[in-house]
Parts: sequence; structure tokens; C-alpha cells
Amino acid sequence: MAYEDVYRRSIEQPEAFWGDEAKAIHWHVPPRQVLEYSQPPFRRWFVGGQTNLCYNAVDRHVAERGDQLALVAVSTETDVTREISYRELYREVNAFAAVLKRLDVGRGDRVVIYMPNMAEAVFAMLACARIGAVHSVVFGGFAAHNLALRIDDAQPKLLIAADAGSRGGKVIPYKPLVDEACAKANTPPAKVLIVSRGLDAAEPKIAGRDEDYATLRAAVGDAEVPVEWLESNEPSYLLYTSGTTGKPKGVQRDVGGYAVALALSMRTVFDVGPGQVMFSTSDVGWAVGHSYNVYGPLIVGATSVLYEGLPITPDAGIWWALCEQYGVRTMFSSPTAVRVLKKHDIDFIKRHDLSELKYLFLAGEPLDEPTAHWITDAIGKPVIDNYWQTETGWPALTLLPGLDMKPVRFGSPGFPNLGYRMKVIDESTGEEVGPCKKGVLVMQPPLPPGCMTTIWNDDARFLSSYFSHFKELLYSSLDWAIRDEDGYTFILGRTDDVINVAGHRLGTREIEESVSGFPAVAEAAVIGVADELKGQVPVVFATLRQATDEPHERVQAADGMRRTVEQSLGAVARPARVYIVNALPKTRSGKLLRRSLQALAQGADPGDLSTLDDPNALEEVRRALQRGPEVGS
Ligand code: AMP
Repeated sequence: MAYEDVYRRSIEQPEAFWGDEAKAIHWHVPPRQVLEYSQPPFRRWFVGGQTNLCYNAVDRHVAERGDQLALVAVSTETDVTREISYRELYREVNAFAAVLKRLDVGRGDRVVIYMPNMAEAVFAMLACARIGAVHSVVFGGFAAHNLALRIDDAQPKLLIAADAGSRGGKVIPYKPLVDEACAKANTPPAKVLIVSRGLDAAEPKIAGRDEDYATLRAAVGDAEVPVEWLESNEPSYLLYTSGTTGKPKGVQRDVGGYAVALALSMRTVFDVGPGQVMFSTSDVGWAVGHSYNVYGPLIVGATSVLYEGLPITPDAGIWWALCEQYGVRTMFSSPTAVRVLKKHDIDFIKRHDLSELKYLFLAGEPLDEPTAHWITDAIGKPVIDNYWQTETGWPALTLLPGLDMKPVRFGSPGFPNLGYRMKVIDESTGEEVGPCKKGVLVMQPPLPPGCMTTIWNDDARFLSSYFSHFKELLYSSLDWAIRDEDGYTFILGRTDDVINVAGHRLGTREIEESVSGFPAVAEAAVIGVADELKGQVPVVFATLRQATDEPHERVQAADGMRRTVEQSLGAVARPARVYIVNALPKTRSGKLLRRSLQALAQGADPGDLSTLDDPNALEEVRRALQRGPEVGS
């Protein structure tokens, strides 16, 4: 079917469209109304319908595909691979739910989950969903301060933590972080459940608070816990994301709308159905992890591959070896991960039999053209750029190969997904801009099923963060975009990452893309630094594909970058200074910490570094600033 026709129906007849799509999931009680929209922008999908995410992800498949693999949890950190069938998943999720019940967790209670990519993290999420508890997975690498902030906002009854995570073979004990977070929090949870993999030597337990999962698991045996049927709009989970203030926003998701949107996207976007295999390299702590490591693949009866470890351990071929071994059909990763692989021999990929693999989706950040070309060449399959936000929960801009594969256009994540009514509008007038004109990407409410329903406990912040930017009631994505004549949308960076050079507005990401086009460059970060004459000037921090200490090679590279930018974007964007470093400061999810870079470059405090992946990267930047920029022609 043509994308255009299906898309048009999703926009012009949303109730008929979504009413049909709702049939893809199991309803204990069918909805009596598809859409209720009496209080814009708040909307309720599938009103009166009763369903359950766990039932749809697990129970529904046991009879038909009980022996099929539901989850393959591979860890190159612990060297353990667990292959879990739907029947085993049913057993483990029920047992986990029974443990939750023993700990007095019930419908509507919040449960914070602080675990890496291990099978029990998936069991814990599904067990919460089963009994109607609201989970909030906090990325395992977050520090105690972040965990405490989330605890205070979500007010969980229970915190479930792994004994430890591991990264590149280095064990990171979680218990001290949990204890510190609980000490810092105003409203710490009454109970802490530790799921131990024997990575961290047992610590003295806090009596009355700490529980050991293995002990309770043994005690509940093969208990079965009935599914709690939830009204479609009850909260299923919270996922915290950063906003413009220090307080994280608890993105709240519903039950029925989310399940329906995931089922639709598994078919039309990811082209994965029952018995097929999807491998997402995301962490369960991110939006992609929730939607396409856990709920999406399981809701449609597919197999989900979950991976804990570096993409280059034991070597840079590990992901492709897994694709070969499990017959992965659709893979989902991030541009950053591909850039890591790009530093290694392409043969690590090419030597594997990828005949089952149909697509690679990449999301979370702009996909630069050199990276897109490199990985397309390496795997010989379509590489599909995917644009979405924690808030949307599923792709907002994408190609839909399961429906109608359009040609990939490098640099663009494609078209609005089904149900997403999107426009690119002028920032000040709010008018829609013409083709190839830059504007703010907005969505016209009601947002489609699956997108956030509100910010937890803070409807006012939901309105002010997303719906207060324009005269018209519109959801602002806070991203700049351009739509070309053929409707392909290009993302140019956050509205909050804009720099102004001598009156010209420039997206730092536009310049980064250009700098990365210079062959010697592995990766680049561009920031706007205050300048007396021009207001701001672009400054580049770049890593080279082949690090060098040779001054003339560094100068040559810097010159090349300046020239490339000047050629592609014009003299106004020409970087004022280029610093060559060995690493760039990033969050653990791979986003560049431009603000910290900018602060350092301006001699200020780098600010909140709790999400920093590698502290050495910051030192690198400090040293480079002391050394001074590469001075060329
Ligand atoms: P997060 O909620 O952390 O996933 O971040 C969402 C933001 O990441 C978006 O608002 C974009 O700025 C950026 N982003 C996500 N996917 C893409 C993409 N495919 N291309 C460009 N930017 C993206």
C-alpha cells in the first residue's frame, strides 16, 4: 500500500484508522470510544478499553509459540547468554510479579528499576506491567544524585537494583549508589530489591529495607499472578528525560495507546512479525529500549535480542556475529555506535553472513552522511535514519519499509510516521514555511497513540514545556527542520543549540555535519563561543580517524575542516578555532555535551556532568584549550 494513502487516512480519519489498528492487540474489554479530545491538548485514546501490556507481550503468545525464543540476553561483560522462550518468560515474569506482590506492590504504585541490560530488567518491567504498577527505569549508569531526583519525583514504593553493572570489564557496584541515593532522597522507597549476578561482593544489608531477589524467587516457586486489567489511559510507565531546568521530566506513557502504536510500528516501520528477530542495541533505560527491546517485539510475538557490553568486545564484529547466529531481520542502533565501529576494519562486519538482515535503523541523534555511507557499504542493506524523542515513544519521522519503502535520502529521517500531523513553521510568525526553508518542527495535537500523555504529576509543566511556544496550540519538538520539495524532512538540531554568528542563525549540527565531511575527521562537536565582534563564532572540537601528534598533520586537518565548512555552508560558518582532541565529552547515550564544551571554552563551570560517559574526554578538552587551537592558514 502506498504510504501516502495510509498516512492520509491516519490524519483525516484518525478514529477509523486507530480503531482498526486497535484490533492488533488483545482487549479484555474493548474501547467504547477511540479518541476523547474535550480538553486539548490532553487526549485519551481507546477510552474504556481494558488491556494489559504484559498480557499482550507474554501470555498471549504462550499457547501458540511457547517454545519460540522471546528474549536472547547476551552479555559480553559476564560472558553469559540466556535464551528465554515465551514459556520461560511467562514463568519468570509471573515469579517476579509474585515477588512484587510479596513486597506489597500493587496497582498504581511506582517501582524504580536501576539495572543494566540483563534479563531480569525485562522480567521486572513486565512484572510491573502485569500487576499494574508503574515502572520507571533509570539508566544504570546514572549517578546517585540523578537517581535521588527521580526517586523524589516518582515516589516509588520499591527500588529494584542489580548488584552491579559492568563496562569494558570494569565492575560498577550499584549498591553504594543506591544507598547514597536513598540517603539523599526526601522520600526513599521502603524496600530495595537486589538482583545479584555475583559481580559485587555482598555488602551488609540494611535490615528491614533490603531484600534479595534469589531468595524471594525461590520462595515463590512457580506462582502465577493474575493480570490486572487497566483502563487504556492509566499510566504504564515513567521515563525521565532532561529538560531546560535541572529537574528531570517524568514522561508518562499510557497502556492501550502505547501497545497499539508499537504493534503498528513493528509491522509498518520495522517490518518484524511473529517468529522474526529484532536486535536493538539500546539500553533498557532509554526510550528505544522500552519500545523495541521489550514491549514492541514481544507484543507481536517476535524474538528480541538484548545486548550488554561494548560494540567492540571481543572484537568489532560481535553485533554482526549475533545477527548471523540468531538470524536477525531488523537491527536498531545509533549513529554514535556506528562511528565507533567505523574506527575499526570494515571486514569485521563484512566477514559475517548477513543474509537474514533486512534493515539497520539508526536513531537518537543526527546521522551524518559519511557514517551513513560507511555503514551502508559495510552491510549492503538499507540504513534507515529514525527521528524520535523520549516523548514520542516511537518514531516520528521515518521510512516505513514494512508498508512502502521509499528511497533513502542521506541526511533525512524521511516522512511523518502514521498519525503524526507535523509541520515546519516559522519561529516568530508560526506560519508554515515553504520547501527547503528552515523552521521549527511541530506536531498538531492530538498527539497520536503511544506519545506521552503528560509529565508525571505536572500537567502545567507539560503545557509550558511543549505547548506554549506558539499562538496556535502546537507541540514543539524544539528541533529545527527543513522539508524538501519531496517531503523528506531534515533535522538541523535543537532550537536550544542554535548559535548566532554576526546576525546569521546557524545550527551547530549543520556545521558538525560539514566538518565530518572532511575525510580525516572521525567526529566533531561545534559550539558557539562568545565573540566581541560577531556575537558568537563557531568553534570546532574534533577527533581524527587516525590520531596524530605531528603538528603539520594536525594543522592540515584543521585547515581542511575550515575549508570544507566554508565550501559547504559559506564563510559565515567558517570555524574560528579548531581543537583536535582524542575524545569528545558525551552522555552515556551518545549525545554530545555541547553545553559543557561551551562552558569550558568560555572559561566557565562545565555544569551538570552526571551524564558524562568518560571523564577523560573532559580532561582532553581542558588540555586542548590550554594548548591552544590548531593555527593554520
Ligand atoms: P531523546 O529524547 O534523548 O531521544 O532526544 C531526542 C532528540 O534527539 C530530538 O529532539 C532530536 O534533537 C535528537 N534526535 C533524535 N533522533 C534524531 C535523528 N534521527 N536525527 C536528528 N536528531 C535526532
